[in-house]
Amino acid sequence: MNKVFAGLPVTVFEAMSQLARDNGAINLGQGFPDDPGPEDIRRVAADAVMNGNNQYPSMMGIPELRQAIASHYHHWHGVDLDPMAEVMVTSGATEALTASILAVVEPGDEVIVFQPVYDSYLPIIRQAGGIPKLVRLEPPHWRLTEDALRAVFSPKTKAVIFNNPLNPAAVVYPREDLELLARFCQEFDAIAICDEVWEHVTFDGLQHQPLLGIPGMRDRTIKIGSAGKIFSLTGWKIGFVCAAPPLLRVAAKVHQFLTFTTPPNLQVAVAYGLGKADDYFLQMRKELARSRDRLASGLQTIGFPVIRSQGTYFLTVDLSPLGLNESDEAFCRRIVTEYKVAAIPVSAFYENNPVTSVVRFCFAKKDATIDAALERLSDAV
Ligand code: PMP
Ligand code: GLN
Repeated sequence: MNKVFAGLPVTVFEAMSQLARDNGAINLGQGFPDDPGPEDIRRVAADAVMNGNNQYPSMMGIPELRQAIASHYHHWHGVDLDPMAEVMVTSGATEALTASILAVVEPGDEVIVFQPVYDSYLPIIRQAGGIPKLVRLEPPHWRLTEDALRAVFSPKTKAVIFNNPLNPAAVVYPREDLELLARFCQEFDAIAICDEVWEHVTFDGLQHQPLLGIPGMRDRTIKIGSAGKIFSLTGWKIGFVCAAPPLLRVAAKVHQFLTFTTPPNLQVAVAYGLGKADDYFLQMRKELARSRDRLASGLQTIGFPVIRSQGTYFLTVDLSPLGLNESDEAFCRRIVTEYKVAAIPVSAFYENNPVTSVVRFCFAKKDATIDAALERLSDAV
């Protein structure tokens, strides 16, 4: 059996969602909203299923969607992409990440990865024969530092994988950190694979900035997005890869043997959605920020120290001042069985030297769901 995969546990998201089902718990673990998603986008998809193309679309994605992605990023970030040479549609960001890593990494290459790390990166780096070089980010700010980057970048560095906004820590990185990372990528001739699936989910007026837009990064950055997050339709699994033609061409060679294509009717609906007026996106942020505040203030009232969430569907709490004498993992196991609320231990996002006192809650839920979870947790600390 393949040693990279045989020894892996089931991902924490699946494991926790199963525990939530087994215990009849409210699931604030895995990140998904509990409403059906934007009705107009779903109607466009339904119409495309009934009246549109249901056969293999073009391997790179339907032209309307590739054009919509390019126009969307031009509009939001002033980034100019050639839709036919620099944009590819994949089955979710998960596939986009796998295609990008396999396209770039060769045996012996070092790949810089930040902890907390999203779970799909390390196994795919290792499958490609790459050597992960882990950088530990520190709570509560989780910022990049010159010293930390200087310690890991080397002439063997082939790539860096950077998740911004950062899941699970809910950080939206400022330009200063992007410029720092860009400087190292250029000094060491490294490619940046940027997982930007949470790009539209930012709060308090913070704006996501793509690394691809930082001077000097245009031709060495692979930008990855996900319609699942942009439109709160996480099950749709429509992802995008945007990169200069020499990078995109190789990622496409991998994509053709991972999934080859992605359902055409959902692509039609995502193309429609990306063209929505700014107001839609701003309203989504406002509603999610309201849910964030509802959960944050409820948890604070119970006594949980809440760490500020700048973006994503998540907020984190720090257990260390509570004197509970248990790890984040033990705490999550206890609350799912005793209080019937599921959350995710942030230590699951580390391979070594984990932060073991931080727990992630998903707030992308109806008020009634948040209130019911808070009620259940009311004497948890
Ligand atoms: N990267 C990050 C940081 C994520 O949080 C997620 C899922 N929420 C993904 C990738 C995977 O996205 P998709 O569901 O489009 O595969
Ligand atoms: N990205 C989602 C989260 O962080 C989960 C995706 C998955 O289940 N693989 O909760």
